Amino acid sequence: LLKIDDLRKSFGQANILKGIDMAVNKGEAVAIIGPSGSGKTTLLRCVNFLETYEEGSIRIDGQEVGYRDGGNRQRRGETDLARMRAETGMVFQSFNLFPHLTAAENVMLGLTKVRRKPKQEAREIAEHWLKRVGLDHRIDNLPSELSGGQQQRVGIARAVAMEPKILLLDEITSALDPELVNEVLDVVRQLAEEGMTMLMVTHEIAFARDASHRIVFMDDGKVAAEGPPKELMAQAGSNQRLDAFLSRFR
Ligand code: ATP
Repeated sequence: LLKIDDLRKSFGQANILKGIDMAVNKGEAVAIIGPSGSGKTTLLRCVNFLETYEEGSIRIDGQEVGYRDGGNRQRRGETDLARMRAETGMVFQSFNLFPHLTAAENVMLGLTKVRRKPKQEAREIAEHWLKRVGLDHRIDNLPSELSGGQQQRVGIARAVAMEPKILLLDEITSALDPELVNEVLDVVRQLAEEGMTMLMVTHEIAFARDASHRIVFMDDGKVAAEGPPKELMAQAGSNQRLDAFLSRFR
């Protein structure tokens, strides 16, 4: 479903992504792990058009997405961009909810503005997903009235309500107090079990091992190892960088 080929990106002189090849199949949950600065977040941001890249390609269902600078493609218009972004629903570390909108209104915004759903239908979809993430009683609350874990669950509901082809999760529990992490991971685990295609950057190694079908280890702008969780863990014996990274969590 998602295919990334030889993706290269730099910030000024610094080469951040040095030729990434990666694929995510339909219904697969793939976790990206790796040391700080290895380019994990930058990779997700390229997939969701938040960053441009210089070389390579990113395809979803065969259709090229993302911005390659210096490429021959025209810059996309804002509406087109919003529509393409909706194919790759993203949930951020810092929630990014609109503070003046209720939980339901946050979820409804993309449905009415991008998906052009009538307000009533958007409201029904929002209620459905907010219930699914366990927020039945918080539908009309403002983000400031919600805990971090609840806000992040609104963020997930907002992304999945758009029916993206793939869900991108960028360290979505990093800003949470430890006791709130599990309620968010449980929602993600359930979506993965139901066959939602997802690509997630996470520092929760135990979660990556339990909830993903495949783990990709990024190191210094490259994919340094990958495989089903058990296989990847077993590779640590022969891959020093992976071993050093994983040893921090043992
Ligand atoms: P972490 O686990 O700490 O979030 P990461 O693997 O997600 O790390 P990135 O956030 O992708 O890493 O960052 C990779 C490198 O790119 C870092 O060295 C960072 O300083 C650099 N970088 C990221 N964004 C920019 C930017 N807008 N301008 C310049 N450098 C940037």
